[in-house]
Amino acid sequence: MNNTLLNRRFATIGRHSPLFYEEPLHLVSGEGVWLTDVEGRKYLDAYNNVPHVGHAHPRVVEAMRAQAGTLNVHTRYLNDRVVDYAEDLLSRFEPGLDRVLFSNSGSEANDLAFRMAHQHTGARGILVTDHSYHGHTSFLTEITTGLKTHEPLGDHVRTFHVPDLDEAANRDRSEQEILTAALAEVEACLADLVRSGHGVSAVIVETIFSTEGLPRVPEGYVTGIAQLVRQAGGLVIADEVQAGLGRIGSHFWGYQKHGIVPDFVTMGKPLGNGHPLAGVVTTAELLEEFGARNEYFNTFAGTPVSSAVGHEVLKIVDDEALVESSERLGALIRPRMAELVEARPQLGVPRGSGLFFGFSVFSDADQLHPDAQTTRQLVEAIKARGVLLSKIGPTGSVLKIRPPLALREEHLPLLLGTIEEAVDEVLG
Ligand code: PMP
Repeated sequence: MNNTLLNRRFATIGRHSPLFYEEPLHLVSGEGVWLTDVEGRKYLDAYNNVPHVGHAHPRVVEAMRAQAGTLNVHTRYLNDRVVDYAEDLLSRFEPGLDRVLFSNSGSEANDLAFRMAHQHTGARGILVTDHSYHGHTSFLTEITTGLKTHEPLGDHVRTFHVPDLDEAANRDRSEQEILTAALAEVEACLADLVRSGHGVSAVIVETIFSTEGLPRVPEGYVTGIAQLVRQAGGLVIADEVQAGLGRIGSHFWGYQKHGIVPDFVTMGKPLGNGHPLAGVVTTAELLEEFGARNEYFNTFAGTPVSSAVGHEVLKIVDDEALVESSERLGALIRPRMAELVEARPQLGVPRGSGLFFGFSVFSDADQLHPDAQTTRQLVEAIKARGVLLSKIGPTGSVLKIRPPLALREEHLPLLLGTIEEAVDEVLG
């Protein structure tokens, strides 16, 4: 490891900016699903969702180069690229979700959605799950439950727990019973927000519950939340920063799997394949209402270069059939994962969908005690064998496998074989 570079980093960026792995990876290049370190070692990237269509995709690089060599200005001028992209992006939503505001990050997109919800409802009360992350602005830090922050939760925020059908504690309960209890908790939060005078502005849900550890939720859970919130006068924000753009395979957007149409859909990470591009999609009515009282201007958001990149990403997703590929590869991987965990009682059943999946790690065969330390060891052992992935969930004990959608069937033996070898080494 290059200690000089590490120390220079500490002396400039600081010690608390997170670095992965016991020995940080010093990367120099990426291509498709491969990352190369400074010593020339190649790693299969099974972690990064931002390079959605693959690291350094030549078509994305060329779209960026060509537009940067022609024109790049903020959005206070007319430009074909920007409108072409907005039209294509919006064509991927249900009728009614027909306006987009661009931003540079998922945080900004969520912040904006909350501003619009507040303006529409006049209320401040927010509902969020008890282990989630939606961004880093001051406003969002007050609703952050799944990442270390020194700010306490705002007194206008109520949190609810996302049920997991695969949890040991739920094994003897029916799905209906779990659903009823979970929705009763949401109802109680809503009643409390009303009672406390905050009223109900919005609920935000990450539609694959990735920060929560990819729990398998009861059928009708997200629909039920949306209904209750709307009955209480609130709006629904679907955070698609992780789940969107075909990641889950079965649908283009995660909310579609649940059969809801949100009031706001917020997007980020994969949209620009690494170029900072994000946004919020909503209805014409909500945007008009917001626009009548606010001038939204964001210097770098949705410029011609960003739009050229975002548009090329959408075209590649289509041309390379990446949504279908995510579903097909996910379906191939699941039974292999199921076999792997079945033989090892301290590993939970596979969770997730498409190319975002994993399994829980426990210290006991009854699967009552999540084991973050063993999960960390697994991540390190898998890295030592040349595959990069990570961990998630409230206790950090769910293995998190989320490769670029550029993954191909030919990479599966390496991915799955490596996980199996590391499991054998670490669990014995
Ligand atoms: N929402 C979710 C679900 C996220 O995972 C993240 C980033 N990890 C964000 C929002 C914030 O996005 P950004 O880092 O682009 O601000």
